[in-house]
Amino acid sequence: MQIIDGKKVSAQVKESVRLETEALVKNYGITPGLAVVIVGDDPASRVYVNNKKKACELVGFRSEEYALPAETTQEELLDLVNTLNGKKDINGILVQLPLPKHLDDKAVIESIDPQKDVDAFHAVNVGKIMLGEYDFLPCTPAGVMEMLHSYDIPVEGRECVVIGRSNIVGKPMGMLLLHENGTVTICHSRTRNLREVCLRADILVAAVGRPKFVTADMVKEGAVVIDVGMDRDENGKLCGDVDFENVKDKCSYITPVPGGVGPMTIATLMKNTLKAFKLQNNIK
Ligand code: NAP
Repeated sequence: MQIIDGKKVSAQVKESVRLETEALVKNYGITPGLAVVIVGDDPASRVYVNNKKKACELVGFRSEEYALPAETTQEELLDLVNTLNGKKDINGILVQLPLPKHLDDKAVIESIDPQKDVDAFHAVNVGKIMLGEYDFLPCTPAGVMEMLHSYDIPVEGRECVVIGRSNIVGKPMGMLLLHENGTVTICHSRTRNLREVCLRADILVAAVGRPKFVTADMVKEGAVVIDVGMDRDENGKLCGDVDFENVKDKCSYITPVPGGVGPMTIATLMKNTLKAFKLQNNIK
């Protein structure tokens, strides 16, 4: 069994973004810029936003934070996104989700210029991913693919089972595995015989949001297990969707939580922002 080291792979990705950014800044005299918008004071969102800002500093991007009070109106938020859409020195716009309940996530995402939508949540970008002709890939599923590539884990022809069908993780994850010729099954809360379906998987991706949901009896001997979950166990400790201790010995590869998929999500965000910068400035 080998543990897939998300911290190591993410550091490699960020280093390659840093080197490319350094060269671009030298050649063109402009710096990629990411705007991060956070509404309210959700502590988990605050941690994510701080980590994104730190990653920007590391790779040499400018980052602008817009921290709005929880009572911000839809109109005020849309106005801000509109202003950021028009700012030439902002190449990527990220609105940290979830938004407070009175705000309409979908309308906010749809108001972002698709060329600045570095989360790849806008309908235009989602459609492009379906067609396989995309500019940006959603950060978490693309981070998972990057880890598979980094460890030379083949996807082609293999049974890939994704548990979860959210728009931000499960569905695009299935699509990316399909683009690489995996035979993909997407499971959800209405799936019958989940255990039997999971037992077929050569590559099993858990994106359920339930602590230690995937148990050893759901995993085939030698499977690759990717844990997207960021959950809390009974003691309030961070854990994944996979019962790591009992599952790990059955796997050929497994990602830990923390230190697995999480760091890859931010690394991909940096890659997407650099791509957006190049697209907007016609740099090949
Ligand atoms: P979500 O929107 O709540 O989706 C959860 C999915 O799991 C749904 O499709 C749901 O099915 C399915 N599900 C729930 N209970 C199930 C059951 N008993 N059997 C089978 N399927 C079941 O969650 P998400 O946003 O995709 O996130 C999933 C997890 O990934 C969370 O722990 C989240 O914190 C984590 N996450 C991590 C990162 C990262 O950077 N590492 C990024 C994003 C999310 P239905 O559709 O039928 O309800």
